[in-house]
Amino acid sequence: MKNPGLMVTYRAKAGSTDKPIVLLGHMDVVDALAKDWVRPPFTLTEEEGYFFGRATMDNKYGITNLTSTFLRLKAEGWQPSRDLVLVFSGDEETGMVSTEAQAKYVAEHIDPAFILNSDAGGVALAEDGTPVAFRVQSAEKTYATYELTVNNPGGHSSRPRDDNAIYELAEALGKIAAYKFPVQATELTRSYFATAGKLTPGEIGQAMLRFAEDPTDTSAIATLQANPETVGTLGTTCVATMLQAGHAENALPQSATATVNCRIFREWGLLRQRRS
Ligand SMILES: [Zn+2]
Repeated sequence: MKNPGLMVTYRAKAGSTDKPIVLLGHMDVVDALAKDWVRPPFTLTEEEGYFFGRATMDNKYGITNLTSTFLRLKAEGWQPSRDLVLVFSGDEETGMVSTEAQAKYVAEHIDPAFILNSDAGGVALAEDGTPVAFRVQSAEKTYATYELTVNNPGGHSSRPRDDNAIYELAEALGKIAAYKFPVQATELTRSYFATAGKLTPGEIGQAMLRFAEDPTDTSAIATLQANPETVGTLGTTCVATMLQAGHAENALPQSATATVNCRIFREWGLLRQRRS
């Protein structure tokens, strides 16, 4: 079975007319190279109260939580007032075949009141483990991957030429690394930072509050852009994720290719205005 998917309906009490709620999760994980890991990536390891392994958070946590909650509620004899539908896909991180088929099925045959995705938002804990907030995600950035390729006639490494595919690609990647996309803010991200700022201790929390108040505050922007947890909420980001170049240690490279993954910030407020 190449792309397994699972859909389970928890039936409502007889006579219910409310539209169903769909609860989503993906069962697959992003690939990982075992040699880069301290522990085996595809075996769940528990150490000192923490779980280690590829995708323990994204999204085995969501799948386990939904499954165990459904089992517990069923065992307790609880009956929902509307149908609850679990939709677990098998290839959200890769081919999206089961994911797209399930999305089509849900739209055509289930027509839910709303959909909750276990792979978004979630519990935020402080450094000492105290719960800070439970986040619910209401929008997601667009995803796009680009490949940059430099070709070159090549030659023998004993006879270097001025143009070189690896050097040219490295120069282009250096420009991408240095580039900062314009900062963007919407009603949604500002209200998120206003609330999260009150709950987040230290410099980051202060910067969140200042940015919510004034999205042109340069020192707040610098703090939030330097923090991997918040940089994505400030605008579009692009980052190099893969590199492939050359074919022999004693040959000039005839091609060099980099993969750059972008997360594109679309102004929801603007889109909404344009539609209305
Ligand atoms: Zn995920």
